[in-house]
Amino acid sequence: SSFSETGLPAQVLDCCKSFSKPSPIQSHSWPFLLDGRDLIGIAATGSGKTLAFGVPALMHILRIKNGKESKRTVPRCLVLSPTRELAQQISDVLSDAGTPSGTKSVCLYGGTSKGPQIASLKSGVVVVRLVLKGKLGKMVEFECGGCGSWASSWNSLHVVIRLLENNRHSAVNCQDIVIGTPGRMKDLIEMGICQLKEVTFVVLDEADRMLDMGFEPEVRSILSQTSSTRQMVMFSATWPFAVHQLAKEFMDPNPVKV
Ligand code: AMP
Repeated sequence: SSFSETGLPAQVLDCCKSFSKPSPIQSHSWPFLLDGRDLIGIAATGSGKTLAFGVPALMHILRIKNGKESKRTVPRCLVLSPTRELAQQISDVLSDAGTPSGTKSVCLYGGTSKGPQIASLKSGVVVVRLVLKGKLGKMVEFECGGCGSWASSWNSLHVVIRLLENNRHSAVNCQDIVIGTPGRMKDLIEMGICQLKEVTFVVLDEADRMLDMGFEPEVRSILSQTSSTRQMVMFSATWPFAVHQLAKEFMDPNPVKV
Protein backbone atom coordinates (compact mmCIF):
# COMPACT_ATOMS: atom_id res chain seq x y z
CA SER A 1 0.00 0.00 0.00
CA SER A 2 1.04 3.58 -0.55
CA PHE A 3 0.22 6.92 1.06
CA SER A 4 -1.73 8.12 -1.97
CA GLU A 5 -4.02 5.08 -1.77
CA THR A 6 -5.20 6.22 1.64
CA GLY A 7 -7.00 9.17 0.06
CA LEU A 8 -5.99 11.34 3.02
CA PRO A 9 -5.57 15.08 2.43
CA ALA A 10 -2.09 16.38 1.67
CA GLN A 11 -2.01 18.56 4.80
CA VAL A 12 -2.39 15.45 6.96
CA LEU A 13 0.03 13.29 4.97
CA ASP A 14 2.68 15.99 5.00
CA CYS A 15 4.20 14.38 8.14
CA CYS A 16 4.88 11.21 6.11
CA LYS A 17 6.62 12.86 3.20
CA SER A 18 10.03 11.47 4.14
CA PHE A 19 8.71 7.87 4.29
CA SER A 20 8.25 5.62 1.26
CA LYS A 21 5.13 3.80 2.46
CA PRO A 22 2.97 3.35 5.57
CA SER A 23 4.54 1.02 8.14
CA PRO A 24 2.63 -2.25 8.76
CA ILE A 25 1.02 -0.95 11.96
CA GLN A 26 -0.08 2.19 10.10
CA SER A 27 -1.55 0.42 7.07
CA HIS A 28 -3.41 -1.99 9.37
CA SER A 29 -4.72 0.65 11.79
CA TRP A 30 -5.62 3.59 9.60
CA PRO A 31 -8.66 2.12 7.76
CA PHE A 32 -10.30 1.05 11.04
CA LEU A 33 -9.46 4.18 12.98
CA LEU A 34 -10.63 6.42 10.13
CA ASP A 35 -13.85 4.43 10.20
CA GLY A 36 -14.36 5.29 13.87
CA ARG A 37 -13.62 1.85 15.30
CA ASP A 38 -11.96 1.21 18.67
CA LEU A 39 -8.61 -0.49 18.28
CA ILE A 40 -6.11 -2.45 20.34
CA GLY A 41 -2.60 -2.56 18.94
CA ILE A 42 0.12 -4.83 20.18
CA ALA A 43 3.13 -2.93 18.94
CA ALA A 44 6.61 -2.04 20.08
CA THR A 45 8.25 1.37 20.02
CA GLY A 46 9.90 1.95 16.68
CA SER A 47 7.03 0.46 14.67
CA GLY A 48 5.66 3.85 13.66
CA LYS A 49 2.81 3.66 16.15
CA THR A 50 2.79 7.37 16.94
CA LEU A 51 1.55 8.17 13.44
CA ALA A 52 -0.58 5.01 13.45
CA PHE A 53 -2.82 6.86 15.90
CA GLY A 54 -1.58 10.39 15.11
CA VAL A 55 -2.81 10.56 11.52
CA PRO A 56 -6.34 9.33 12.40
CA ALA A 57 -6.35 11.73 15.37
CA LEU A 58 -5.65 14.66 13.04
CA MET A 59 -8.40 13.48 10.69
CA HIS A 60 -10.80 13.14 13.64
CA ILE A 61 -10.16 16.77 14.61
CA LEU A 62 -10.40 18.09 11.04
CA ARG A 63 -13.70 16.31 10.47
CA ILE A 64 -15.19 17.92 13.57
CA LYS A 65 -13.89 21.35 12.63
CA ASN A 66 -15.12 21.05 9.04
CA GLY A 67 -18.45 19.62 10.07
CA LYS A 68 -21.59 21.11 11.52
CA GLU A 69 -20.47 20.63 15.10
CA SER A 70 -18.83 23.37 17.09
CA LYS A 71 -15.82 24.92 15.43
CA ARG A 72 -14.40 26.04 18.76
CA THR A 73 -10.93 24.83 19.53
CA VAL A 74 -11.19 22.58 22.59
CA PRO A 75 -9.35 19.34 23.26
CA ARG A 76 -10.94 16.64 21.10
CA CYS A 77 -8.08 14.22 21.42
CA LEU A 78 -6.23 12.92 24.47
CA VAL A 79 -3.06 10.82 24.52
CA LEU A 80 -1.95 9.27 27.82
CA SER A 81 1.59 8.04 28.09
CA PRO A 82 3.44 6.47 31.04
CA THR A 83 6.51 8.69 31.10
CA ARG A 84 7.45 12.28 30.54
CA GLU A 85 10.04 11.37 27.88
CA LEU A 86 7.52 9.39 25.88
CA ALA A 87 4.87 12.10 26.25
CA GLN A 88 7.32 14.70 24.96
CA GLN A 89 8.32 12.50 22.02
CA ILE A 90 4.68 12.02 21.06
CA SER A 91 4.03 15.71 21.52
CA ASP A 92 6.93 16.61 19.20
CA VAL A 93 5.67 14.26 16.50
CA LEU A 94 2.06 15.43 16.80
CA SER A 95 2.83 19.12 16.87
CA ASP A 96 4.94 18.79 13.70
CA ALA A 97 2.30 16.61 12.06
CA GLY A 98 -0.45 19.06 13.02
CA THR A 99 1.25 22.20 11.75
CA PRO A 100 0.08 22.04 8.10
CA SER A 101 -3.56 21.66 9.19
CA GLY A 102 -3.32 24.18 12.03
CA THR A 103 -3.90 21.53 14.68
CA LYS A 104 -2.49 22.52 18.05
CA SER A 105 -1.30 20.36 20.89
CA VAL A 106 0.00 20.73 24.42
CA CYS A 107 2.01 18.37 26.61
CA LEU A 108 1.44 18.03 30.38
CA TYR A 109 3.77 15.94 32.46
CA GLY A 110 4.91 15.38 36.02
CA GLY A 111 8.42 15.46 37.39
CA THR A 112 8.54 19.24 37.37
CA SER A 113 6.81 21.47 39.88
CA LYS A 114 3.24 22.31 39.12
CA GLY A 115 3.42 26.07 39.71
CA PRO A 116 5.36 27.18 36.64
CA GLN A 117 3.47 24.74 34.43
CA ILE A 118 0.15 26.10 35.65
CA ALA A 119 1.32 29.68 35.24
CA SER A 120 2.42 29.04 31.69
CA LEU A 121 -0.85 27.26 30.94
CA LYS A 122 -2.82 30.24 32.16
CA SER A 123 -0.65 32.97 30.74
CA GLY A 124 -0.27 34.17 27.23
CA VAL A 125 -3.78 33.14 26.42
CA VAL A 126 -5.56 36.45 26.51
CA VAL A 127 -4.73 39.52 24.56
CA VAL A 128 -6.54 42.53 25.93
CA ARG A 129 -6.56 45.81 24.09
CA LEU A 130 -8.33 49.12 24.11
CA VAL A 131 -10.08 49.36 20.80
CA LEU A 132 -11.58 52.82 20.80
CA LYS A 133 -12.66 55.70 22.98
CA GLY A 134 -16.17 57.04 22.60
CA LYS A 135 -18.93 58.82 24.51
CA LEU A 136 -19.44 55.71 26.61
CA GLY A 137 -15.80 55.49 27.58
CA LYS A 138 -13.30 52.97 26.43
CA MET A 139 -14.04 49.79 24.54
CA VAL A 140 -12.05 46.86 25.89
CA GLU A 141 -11.66 43.83 23.70
CA PHE A 142 -10.01 40.54 24.40
CA GLU A 143 -8.93 37.83 22.12
CA CYS A 144 -8.00 34.40 23.34
CA GLY A 145 -4.51 33.67 22.05
CA GLY A 146 -5.29 29.99 22.39
CA CYS A 147 -8.40 29.69 20.24
CA GLY A 148 -8.91 33.14 18.75
CA SER A 149 -12.38 33.70 20.20
CA TRP A 150 -13.06 37.21 21.40
CA ALA A 151 -15.33 39.37 23.50
CA SER A 152 -15.65 43.07 24.19
CA SER A 153 -17.12 45.35 26.78
CA TRP A 154 -17.34 49.07 27.49
CA ASN A 155 -14.93 50.12 30.23
CA SER A 156 -15.15 46.93 32.15
CA LEU A 157 -12.10 44.78 32.04
CA HIS A 158 -13.48 42.51 34.72
CA VAL A 159 -16.60 41.75 32.64
CA VAL A 160 -14.26 40.56 29.94
CA ILE A 161 -12.23 38.54 32.39
CA ARG A 162 -15.35 36.95 33.83
CA LEU A 163 -16.47 36.02 30.32
CA LEU A 164 -13.09 34.47 29.87
CA GLU A 165 -13.23 32.49 33.09
CA ASN A 166 -16.76 31.26 32.42
CA ASN A 167 -15.59 29.92 29.10
CA ARG A 168 -12.67 28.33 30.91
CA HIS A 169 -10.12 29.54 28.46
CA SER A 170 -6.68 28.29 29.27
CA ALA A 171 -3.72 27.21 27.24
CA VAL A 172 -4.91 23.64 27.65
CA ASN A 173 -8.57 24.10 26.88
CA CYS A 174 -7.86 25.95 23.64
CA GLN A 175 -5.77 23.17 22.14
CA ASP A 176 -6.92 20.35 19.88
CA ILE A 177 -4.77 17.60 21.36
CA VAL A 178 -3.63 17.09 24.96
CA ILE A 179 -0.76 14.71 25.57
CA GLY A 180 0.16 13.87 29.13
CA THR A 181 1.22 11.58 31.91
CA PRO A 182 -1.60 10.30 34.15
CA GLY A 183 -0.59 11.85 37.49
CA ARG A 184 -0.12 15.42 36.30
CA MET A 185 -3.16 15.21 34.03
CA LYS A 186 -5.37 14.15 36.91
CA ASP A 187 -4.08 17.01 39.09
CA LEU A 188 -4.75 19.60 36.39
CA ILE A 189 -8.21 18.20 35.72
CA GLU A 190 -9.06 18.42 39.43
CA MET A 191 -7.83 22.02 39.52
CA GLY A 192 -10.16 22.86 36.64
CA ILE A 193 -7.29 23.85 34.37
CA CYS A 194 -7.85 21.01 31.95
CA GLN A 195 -11.30 20.01 30.67
CA LEU A 196 -11.80 16.84 28.71
CA LYS A 197 -15.53 16.56 28.27
CA GLU A 198 -15.34 17.15 24.52
CA VAL A 199 -12.57 14.62 24.03
CA THR A 200 -13.88 12.04 21.56
CA PHE A 201 -10.59 10.39 20.54
CA VAL A 202 -8.51 8.78 23.29
CA VAL A 203 -5.17 7.02 23.01
CA LEU A 204 -3.60 4.97 25.79
CA ASP A 205 -0.01 4.44 24.79
CA GLU A 206 2.01 1.68 26.45
CA ALA A 207 -1.06 0.72 28.48
CA ASP A 208 0.70 -2.22 30.15
CA ARG A 209 3.54 -0.01 31.37
CA MET A 210 1.12 2.64 32.59
CA LEU A 211 -0.70 0.08 34.75
CA ASP A 212 2.58 -1.50 35.91
CA MET A 213 3.63 1.90 37.18
CA GLY A 214 0.49 2.03 39.32
CA PHE A 215 -1.40 4.62 37.28
CA GLU A 216 -4.58 2.59 37.02
CA PRO A 217 -6.70 4.81 39.34
CA GLU A 218 -5.55 7.96 37.50
CA VAL A 219 -6.17 6.40 34.08
CA ARG A 220 -9.69 5.36 35.09
CA SER A 221 -10.48 8.73 36.57
CA ILE A 222 -9.18 10.57 33.48
CA LEU A 223 -11.05 8.30 31.05
CA SER A 224 -14.28 8.92 32.92
CA GLN A 225 -13.89 12.67 32.24
CA THR A 226 -13.87 12.19 28.48
CA SER A 227 -16.96 12.03 26.28
CA SER A 228 -18.96 8.81 26.51
CA THR A 229 -19.06 8.76 22.70
CA ARG A 230 -15.27 8.55 22.52
CA GLN A 231 -13.34 6.43 20.08
CA MET A 232 -10.50 4.68 21.86
CA VAL A 233 -7.12 3.32 20.84
CA MET A 234 -4.93 1.27 23.14
CA PHE A 235 -1.33 0.32 22.44
CA SER A 236 0.39 -2.21 24.61
CA ALA A 237 3.50 -4.36 24.26
CA THR A 238 1.91 -7.17 26.30
CA TRP A 239 -1.64 -8.16 27.13
CA PRO A 240 -1.95 -8.82 30.88
CA PHE A 241 -5.26 -9.26 32.69
CA ALA A 242 -5.37 -5.67 34.03
CA VAL A 243 -5.05 -4.22 30.52
CA HIS A 244 -7.64 -6.64 29.21
CA GLN A 245 -10.00 -5.57 32.01
CA LEU A 246 -9.48 -1.88 31.29
CA ALA A 247 -10.25 -2.45 27.61
CA LYS A 248 -13.38 -4.37 28.51
CA GLU A 249 -14.62 -1.54 30.68
CA PHE A 250 -13.80 1.46 28.54
CA MET A 251 -13.81 0.24 24.96
CA ASP A 252 -16.37 -1.12 22.51
CA PRO A 253 -17.18 -4.77 23.14
CA ASN A 254 -15.61 -5.60 19.79
CA PRO A 255 -12.45 -3.59 19.26
CA VAL A 256 -10.26 -4.28 16.24
CA LYS A 257 -7.00 -6.01 17.17
CA VAL A 258 -3.84 -5.43 15.17
P1 AMP B 1 7.39 5.32 16.64
O1 AMP B 1 7.14 3.86 16.73
O2 AMP B 1 6.13 6.09 16.41
O3 AMP B 1 8.18 5.85 17.78
O4 AMP B 1 8.25 5.60 15.30
C1 AMP B 1 9.57 5.11 15.14
C2 AMP B 1 10.29 5.78 13.99
O5 AMP B 1 9.73 5.38 12.73
C3 AMP B 1 10.26 7.28 14.00
O6 AMP B 1 11.54 7.77 13.80
C4 AMP B 1 9.37 7.64 12.84
O7 AMP B 1 9.76 8.86 12.24
C5 AMP B 1 9.57 6.49 11.89
N1 AMP B 1 8.42 6.22 10.99
C6 AMP B 1 7.11 6.46 11.26
N2 AMP B 1 6.35 6.08 10.21
C7 AMP B 1 7.19 5.59 9.26
C8 AMP B 1 7.00 5.04 7.94
N3 AMP B 1 5.78 4.91 7.40
N4 AMP B 1 8.10 4.63 7.26
C9 AMP B 1 9.33 4.74 7.82
N5 AMP B 1 9.57 5.25 9.03
C10 AMP B 1 8.52 5.67 9.77
